[in-house]
Amino acid sequence: MISKIQKIIKKFINNLYPEKCILCNKNSEEFHLCKTCLKNIKFSTDSYKRIVNSVQIFSPFFYKDEIQKLILNYKFKHKKSLYKLFSKFLFDYFNFCELKNILTPENTIIIGIPSYKDRKNKRGYNHINLIIKELSKQLNIQYSDKIIEKIKYTKPQYNLNYSERYENIKNSFKINPENINKSNILILDDIVTSGATASEIINLFKTLKNINIYFLSLSVVKK
Ligand SMILES: [Zn+2]
Repeated sequence: MISKIQKIIKKFINNLYPEKCILCNKNSEEFHLCKTCLKNIKFSTDSYKRIVNSVQIFSPFFYKDEIQKLILNYKFKHKKSLYKLFSKFLFDYFNFCELKNILTPENTIIIGIPSYKDRKNKRGYNHINLIIKELSKQLNIQYSDKIIEKIKYTKPQYNLNYSERYENIKNSFKINPENINKSNILILDDIVTSGATASEIINLFKTLKNINIYFLSLSVVKK
């Protein structure tokens, strides 16, 4: 009942003060975007491949332009419902790239990059988990937050230069192999910049036998 009233109020306010598109400031339609901007966001068709520790980082976008703006709005400006758009991009990209032919509900588990002691951020939601849970539902591939843990507090990576990032993140994760019941692990992230975190996690999984690692990131920085 309350949510119904909230929806009506929201619609009423939106009619008075239409929400603006994050990218062009026209009236927004869906996911905080106008129809035109939404339609214009396309996967990168660049043949560039980002490799971290001999693992390819599959990614639909370079971290720049529109997608960068959307991610920043999602993480820092409370545009929470963008998780649905991001998981849609990842779902479409998954089905477009070769992951579709390798990873199935039978052989794969999806994991995210954990934060220390479930550190609730200022947003009040774990931004990457929302995307993963939605994608897991769409792909019908199991998601687990019991496989990898963050065991050490680390400073936010974006304040550090690339070599400091590797040092900062070192030995800060722990794997629980007993919770792995599939042969493929799909690691999901929103941005791969220096690759320090990705590298640290890939290294850990490489110590396990008979486990294949795949990495999908919403965006990637060209190096
Ligand atoms: Zn627009």
